[in-house]
Order: sequence, then structure tokens, then C-alpha cells
Amino acid sequence: MESSSLSSMTTGNPTSPDRDCGLCPRLVTYRESNRSAQPSWHNAPVPSFGSLDARLLIVGLAPGVTGANATGRPFTGDYAGDLLYGTLAHFGLSRGTFDRRPDDGLELVNCRITNAVRCVPPQNKPTGVEISTCLAFLRDEMDAMANLRVVLALGAIAHNAVLKCLGLKQSGYKFAHGAQHDLPDGLPLLADSYHCSRYNTNTGRLTTEMFRSAFAQIIDRLDELARVPPARHGIPGDRAAMEG
Ligand code: SF4
Repeated sequence: MESSSLSSMTTGNPTSPDRDCGLCPRLVTYRESNRSAQPSWHNAPVPSFGSLDARLLIVGLAPGVTGANATGRPFTGDYAGDLLYGTLAHFGLSRGTFDRRPDDGLELVNCRITNAVRCVPPQNKPTGVEISTCLAFLRDEMDAMANLRVVLALGAIAHNAVLKCLGLKQSGYKFAHGAQHDLPDGLPLLADSYHCSRYNTNTGRLTTEMFRSAFAQIIDRLDELARVPPARHGIPGDRAAMEG
């Protein structure tokens, strides 16, 4: 990864991509066309939302063009956020009222939200290379969360990205809605849910009840895992990179 695309780590915060991160040429081209067409939009890598001290990290796929790409906050501005933030409020994982705006005053409680790919891809479909390229930021994000106990992957792509970050083979941990994977070596629990996209809810693949059920199971495990000291979950970046 080109060091010029990385922000300083001197504050102890995870490495974040610059506004003009140039590591994915196709996404840069799309970003530039969106900047020309919609200059008031965020149109840049979308930063994570929530405290680094959180125990739960929610990992989505990538910003939606009229959602997070426009507003600059994950899952904010389009339909996917309605179900996600409504569910977080239901379980006491947020404070305030979600209003599809980054200045709505909403705060997350003990959870943080990020995306496997930080820039909006055309048709919501990042390529495998783009996912692999952006993994360095996700890896650093996870490594910076000292209290991390559970990672919730929204969709199979996010699930596989998390496994790759952790240097684990996908064949050992199959994605399934509602699944929970106990990972080795003190790594955080990996939980799965279908992505809360409009497509998945419109087709009935994911209902509000199914989404809440996945969260209810996570809350149970969070309480259980909170009773033991934080695990060492240093991310084996070199091993993950080698396994491709
Ligand atoms: S997707 Fe990630 S790695 Fe690619 S350009 Fe955006 S921030 Fe950089």
C-alpha cells in the first residue's frame, strides 16, 4: 500500500484513507464523476462511525451512492440505514433519533460501524481486487479496537473480508444468516446477518424480525463475553495477505 494514501497513525487511531485515496483506479474514476455531478455530496472514502472503545463492530459492504457516499456517514441517507439504525435503537445501541442526516445528533452506544470497502463502487459491486485493496484499512480498524468482542458481518462479502483480515480460511467458516462463529486464538466472535439492503427486505430475504433476532443473539454473547478479560486479537496481516 502506498504510504501517501494513508493518514498518520501518531494519534493511535487506525489508519484511514485520505479523501483522495488513489488505490482503486475504477473507484477513483467513479468518485470523480460523482464529484462533478454532485459537488455538494461527500464523494470520498466514508469514515467509520462510533467509538473505538466499542465491543461490537458492524461491517457493511460499501457506501451506497446516494446514501453514505452522499452524506459521509455509514448507512446514512438511504434505505439500508432505516432498518440498521432502527434496530440499534431497539437494542439500546444508540442514543438520539436517526434522521438520515450526519448532523442528526445520533450517537452509537458500544458499537461502531464501518464498511469493508470505503468508497462507493458502481452498481454497488466492488471487484475482488478492490475488496482486497481496502482490507488494510479494515484490518487496522479491528486491531485498534482494544475491547472488540463481536464483529457482525452484513452479507457474505463482508463476512469473507473479515475472515481474510484475520488470516482465516473461508472454507472453515461458512456465511449464514444468524450464524455465530467462535474464532481461534482469542479473536472476536464473528456473527453473520444478511445485509439490510432494500433489495433483501423487499424480496423478503431479510425481515425486521430476522434482523432483530440476529442482534438479540449478539447481545446475549456480548454480555457473556464481557465477563471475561479482553482477548488479544492482533490481526495477522502478513498471514492474511499471503493466503490471498
Ligand atoms: S476503496 Fe479503499 S483502498 Fe480503494 S480507493 Fe477507496 S479507500 Fe482507497
